[in-house]
Amino acid sequence: MQLYNSLSHKKEEFVPRFGNRVSMYTCGPTVYHYAHIGNLRSYIMEDVLEKYLRFIGYDVKRVMNITDVGHLTSDGDTGDDKMLKGAKREHKTVMEIAEFYTGAFFEDCRKLNIKTPDAVVPATSCIDEFIRVISSLLEKGFAYQAGGNIYFDTSKLDKYYVFNDFKEEDLAVGVRDGVENDENKRNKADFVLWFTRSKFDDQELKWDSPWGVGYPGWHIECSCISMQNLGEYLDIHCGGIDNAFPHHTNEIAQSEAYLGHEWCNYWFHVHHLNTNSGKMSKSSGEFLTVSLLEEKGYLPVVYRFFCLLSHYRKSLVFSWENLDNAAGAYSKLTAKIAPLTKETAGEIDRDEYNRLMNVFKDALDSDLNTSLAITALYDVLKSDANAVTKLALIKEFDRVLGLDLIENAEKSDNTEESVPQEVLELAEERKAARKDKNFALADELRDKIASLGYEVRETRQGTVLTKK
Ligand code: AMP
Ligand code: ZN
Repeated sequence: MQLYNSLSHKKEEFVPRFGNRVSMYTCGPTVYHYAHIGNLRSYIMEDVLEKYLRFIGYDVKRVMNITDVGHLTSDGDTGDDKMLKGAKREHKTVMEIAEFYTGAFFEDCRKLNIKTPDAVVPATSCIDEFIRVISSLLEKGFAYQAGGNIYFDTSKLDKYYVFNDFKEEDLAVGVRDGVENDENKRNKADFVLWFTRSKFDDQELKWDSPWGVGYPGWHIECSCISMQNLGEYLDIHCGGIDNAFPHHTNEIAQSEAYLGHEWCNYWFHVHHLNTNSGKMSKSSGEFLTVSLLEEKGYLPVVYRFFCLLSHYRKSLVFSWENLDNAAGAYSKLTAKIAPLTKETAGEIDRDEYNRLMNVFKDALDSDLNTSLAITALYDVLKSDANAVTKLALIKEFDRVLGLDLIENAEKSDNTEESVPQEVLELAEERKAARKDKNFALADELRDKIASLGYEVRETRQGTVLTKK
């Protein structure tokens, strides 16, 4: 499989370090609010990657952290702790907030067919491990104590900005707009491993440490949770593109300083879901969640389908119109699959099966090209293969795509085959009339459809025809 590796800035053949075993780490959510559908785009694409690696025979172990402490409102070392902000907003304790939004996150994942990783580890359960690794970084001379906090010393590394040839002045956290300069830092890019003295005296969660009562920085948690659960060598690390700097850059710095050797071979970054007005965020603009999509009548898997229609390395613009288009296409797709589910006669044609399976695999082998994989699905439907072969292929593809294709096809009433042509044509005319805002004609056509024994409804998923 060819995968784009952010570390080498090119597509590479994916080769795990230890034979068939793949260790995979994913930055989990900061559980101070619901996940927005932008966050979930990242998790959907990472899920497809995991499922495809399993599909082609790898034995994958995937670990995810839950950020329930240490992630400040800037991705660097300034601002409020996001968890504390969430707790204040809802007049609850930090742990109550964490528990509630962790549950909400996995509920969203369930609806979107995102598999729960093999290990899910809250940062607050690993404080001793963070302290152990920070102590070792101090001993090795990669960290220093200043103004009460423990900082990582980026000047001790041969190369710090690993992902891009960033200009230090452009990216250093200390000089970003609105970010205060921390006088304690020896170098602009240094970052906090452990806070003891900060201006956030009301920080709710604090732990004893050799350097005083305090709490960990955000970056150290992912390094430690990964190393503790997946060992000294990591095959693939995932996350949204915004995490490449400073979060992942800092993870690499501290992990490799601690281990004394290279740590992770492949970095998989998912580009952003944007709205017309810019990047989607939890604090500005319309807060788009899975529940909101459901309230508006969309199936959550339609959002997954929408994501799979685009490549993970392109930013994707969300609009209701774009989602409507995906909903219509999904509905037509399941309607095409529906008649296949009723045909059981015949045997799988192995040659056709292998040929069409290879088209699907070629698509995903090519840097996880999910939109080509969906085209491969249409190729199956268009092919001359018999129904049993087609259905077997669709079932297999859906183990990776996770679109509930068979399940929703079975539920689909508006199969092109079962609804008489006359009714389908009337429904099309009615749709056009509604588009032209000719509601009198639309009503007339609805009555005609009713007289032929069908009820017609327009939903987000398209036109639904049900037998009365
Ligand atoms: P957070 O809950 O803020 O820690 O983010 C969880 C994941 O969502 C991280 O991997 C982020 O990089 C990713 N992410 C944040 N915003 C977006 C977005 N608009 N589109 C895609 N992924 C995002
Ligand atoms: Zn992380």
